[in-house]
Amino acid sequence: MMADDLLLGGIEAGGTKFLCALADGEGRILDEVRIATTTPAQTLGAAVRFFEDARDTRGPISALSIGSFGPLSLNPAAHDHGAITSTPKPGWQDTDLLAPFRHLVAAPLALDTDVNCAAIGEHLFGSGRGLDTFCYITVGTGIGVGIFVGGSAHGGANHPEAGHIPVPRAPGDADFAGICPFHGDCLEGLACGPAMKARWGVPAETLPLDHAAWDIEADYLAGLCTTLSYVVRPDRIILGGGVMQAGHMYTRVRTRLAEKLAGYDASLRALSMDDYLVAPTAGASAGLTGALALSYRTAARQWPMHWHAHLNVRDDSLHPQGMPLAAGGRDV
Ligand code: ADP
Ligand code: ZN
Repeated sequence: MMADDLLLGGIEAGGTKFLCALADGEGRILDEVRIATTTPAQTLGAAVRFFEDARDTRGPISALSIGSFGPLSLNPAAHDHGAITSTPKPGWQDTDLLAPFRHLVAAPLALDTDVNCAAIGEHLFGSGRGLDTFCYITVGTGIGVGIFVGGSAHGGANHPEAGHIPVPRAPGDADFAGICPFHGDCLEGLACGPAMKARWGVPAETLPLDHAAWDIEADYLAGLCTTLSYVVRPDRIILGGGVMQAGHMYTRVRTRLAEKLAGYDASLRALSMDDYLVAPTAGASAGLTGALALSYRTAARQWPMHWHAHLNVRDDSLHPQGMPLAAGGRDV
């Protein structure tokens, strides 16, 4: 099949909204929809109808991929492969994400975490371009980590859960119990956006620059980056999400990371922190772009490197344009 003939489906499944899109083989968005995340029956039902309508009007869908919030069961040998598993999100535990879409496509469906799909987007079009090994971290409602090794997202027996690692207490933060329903004071329990709100009584975005919260937060995120630096040995760490909208955090995390790495080993000493720890640049819809790119890879057996132009990402990564995917989409 020529790339021109491809009809590619992608879904970015989030705790607030599902973005569904249909693209051609050139990465041009043909149609898209934004669906509120309510119950699995309602939300998945609306997503299935979107792709059924698309198939009825445009013809067979070549491939369909989903990037979802988790935890997910991604090992094909697992009895619950394709399911959201132990999520605290009400109603979504043990939801099979793949079964409702199987009748739509002959090709195998692809499912990966939202962060891995965003990492694919960054790899193809953003801050991970040309990099063999990098980590993608998002600090928002939770803390998610995608680990890209050797040109693809690391899966293993199941996807990494580096957001839930234990971290040493930051100076000045001995007592806060943390909010992770499973571990209490794991990294996510101490440092995700809602943890900051629980710790300080107000949303993170309202805290003044000189508040102690920021250096504590930077210490925790630098702890994660230290662990990833030693375990993965990435070329770069991409750090994004709502909490990193507080742009002053980048300098704080870089400074703490350099202190924690403590000059250990020549290649770490040689790092320029400004280049090693960076913001995402593939735009807010990198996860959806990554899902569509996965569909392209399923159908064409290679990554869609030629999509760059259509996706309107400028080479000047200091001025990310963002993906035009979500713009002008319908709401359901
Ligand atoms: P999600 O993880 O659901 O995709 P986001 O990545 O947007 O959501 O993260 C939401 C979190 O980010 C909230 O806890 C919010 O308080 C926090 N947040 C949003 N904007 C800022 C900001 N400018 N500074 C610090 N924290 C912020
Ligand atoms: Zn946890």
